Amino acid sequence: MNLTLLSLGAGVQSTTLFLLALDGTLPKPDGAIFADTGWEPAAVYRHLERIEREAALAGVPVYRVSSGNLRSDSIDPDRRYVSAPYFVQNPDGSDGMGRRQCTSEYKLVPIRRKVRELLGAPAPRFLRVPKGRTATQWVGFSTDEIHRANRAHDSVRYLATEYPLLDLGWSRKDCERYLNGKGWTTEKSACIGCPFHGNAAWRELRDNRPEEWADAVAFDVEIRKGGRRGVPMRGEQFLHRSRLPLSIAPIDRVTRGEWKDRQLDALELIKDIEAEEGSADGCSPYGCRSGDPA
Ligand code: SF4
Repeated sequence: MNLTLLSLGAGVQSTTLFLLALDGTLPKPDGAIFADTGWEPAAVYRHLERIEREAALAGVPVYRVSSGNLRSDSIDPDRRYVSAPYFVQNPDGSDGMGRRQCTSEYKLVPIRRKVRELLGAPAPRFLRVPKGRTATQWVGFSTDEIHRANRAHDSVRYLATEYPLLDLGWSRKDCERYLNGKGWTTEKSACIGCPFHGNAAWRELRDNRPEEWADAVAFDVEIRKGGRRGVPMRGEQFLHRSRLPLSIAPIDRVTRGEWKDRQLDALELIKDIEAEEGSADGCSPYGCRSGDPA
């Protein structure tokens, strides 16, 4: 028994993989798994629902898996502390950064648990996969992300990883063109209050999704003194790299990287700036937004 399972982040690349499987370019997978942090933008959930409708018609099950709600878990003093890459100001004035455990805890762990369950590992913990049963997971890295692909790192004994977009030689631009041609658009998949948002993402939230912006601003206040098991930390933590409250953080300043992206947009005559800004990595379980360890 070997199952083929799509790791569905619901962003550009994994949506492309899903549609390539539906149009016959790729074989139909046995299922797709979406890890839900519980704090994705509403647009991502709407997009996911569209995928689920198409998948149901094609007979491909989509599994939503979860380890909880990252937002509420993060501020619940009775729960184990959720460590995310917040920007920390230490009591001595020096800068620090939280450990990025959220991706593993809220994405990798529930996905692998679901894979083991599908492979027949016994309930309730689904720990041991019976001998001879394996799965292949498709991860949607495109050629511009080839540096993130690491079969050995992304695979475990019962689960091998493949990168079909790399095999096809498709870049993110290829995926966007393909999706446009099919009449699909995608939203960046990331927690509303992800500290990896760049200024462009924060501005987009503030200017276009005021409720989600207000939610992120409120969360930023709530985590300020957040610490392990409710014990206040000695320093303070922030969502924005300036280590200022998000409500007053300098998000209108255009960084050199963003300016470079905009110039690329102009060169490539891409009108949709938001889509170009989507070239920042999404929060794939196999490479979080920054792509860098935090
Ligand atoms: S999107 Fe950000 S906050 Fe959410 S799991 Fe990924 S790194 Fe953590």
